Amino acid sequence: MERTEIADLGEFGLIHHLTANNETRNASTVLSVGDDGAVIDHFGRQTVVSTDLLIEGIHFDLSYTPLKHLGYKSVIVNLSDIYAMNATPSQITVNIGFSNRFSLEALTAFYDGIYAACEQYGVDLVGGDTSSSQKGLIISVTAIGEVAPDQYVTRKGAQPNQLICVSGELGGAFLGLTLLEREKKIFAETGAQPDLENQAYIVGKLLKPEARKDIVQWFQENQIQPTAMIDVSDGLSSDIMHICKQSGTGCVLYEDKIPFNEEAREFAYKLKLDPTACALSGGEDYELLFTVDQKDFEAIRQNPYLSVIGYITPAEEGMHLITRGGNKHALVAQGWNHLR
Ligand code: ADP
Ligand code: MG
Repeated sequence: MERTEIADLGEFGLIHHLTANNETRNASTVLSVGDDGAVIDHFGRQTVVSTDLLIEGIHFDLSYTPLKHLGYKSVIVNLSDIYAMNATPSQITVNIGFSNRFSLEALTAFYDGIYAACEQYGVDLVGGDTSSSQKGLIISVTAIGEVAPDQYVTRKGAQPNQLICVSGELGGAFLGLTLLEREKKIFAETGAQPDLENQAYIVGKLLKPEARKDIVQWFQENQIQPTAMIDVSDGLSSDIMHICKQSGTGCVLYEDKIPFNEEAREFAYKLKLDPTACALSGGEDYELLFTVDQKDFEAIRQNPYLSVIGYITPAEEGMHLITRGGNKHALVAQGWNHLR
């Protein structure tokens, strides 16, 4: 493959190359890339901002992550945070730091992924910053979104007897990571090519996650206002504990209600992993975990992408999981912790 050194273009040449065909699609984007700042006008709506930092070797491994997928995912993880506030993302900024290991072709592939996510989710890239780094790739994305005045949803509003709901299926991304790490090790030891047969679902969940735009749109269409919400980035256990701690409540979750994908379940059994543990402690599913009033039960039940997995209790009752066998276990936050 062709390799063009970034040094041949310089910083401004690179920025021009990466943003030359940048389009904007939102009326709120008044001024985009090309000046000292971008200008955004949300026309009387409230603005939600969220930012993330991703570091090579800590948050991603380029030995099995294609750069285009990495660009896509870097955007998705931020959009997911905006949706978790019940808001609609409209703009992003992207900061990158990279060593001379990265060619123009590599960064172009990374931006192809960024633009694909922008198109898919209707957001505009309005700026960023570009630097070299001594080692590896550093990415920081900031997402900006909008929400009708005071319709944003925090982690704080859950109340006893409200229902705990989650979108999609959990645990898949953790299993995808487990599979790719395993294949990487086998490759290092034996040179054997990775065997990813029949594992498209879990690998896809890890490498090409999606954010739940559809669920937030559905809330608006059905006039449902969750009382608390978070996106599942650290594992169900740790994330429901955030809602409970901030709301001053406890909770009960039912093991048999936790949504799991069949392909993922089979792979978990093959590795002798407990699917429930993968959902509770794995991370990076980017599903929405939220609480609603009981009056919304009928509407939630009609949506095939939502599962009711438990309910909120008073704080004194603690945070528990009821297993399939009817046993009660205290939840532990053994989230995805890269500071470990
Ligand atoms: P300044 O020196 O004022 O910070 P820069 O030369 O860093 O300006 O950036 C010029 C323009 O290009 C700005 O609009 C900035 O937001 C944008 N930009 C810089 N780097 C990136 C990037 N990696 N991705 C997208 N836009 C970028
Ligand atoms: Mg700058």
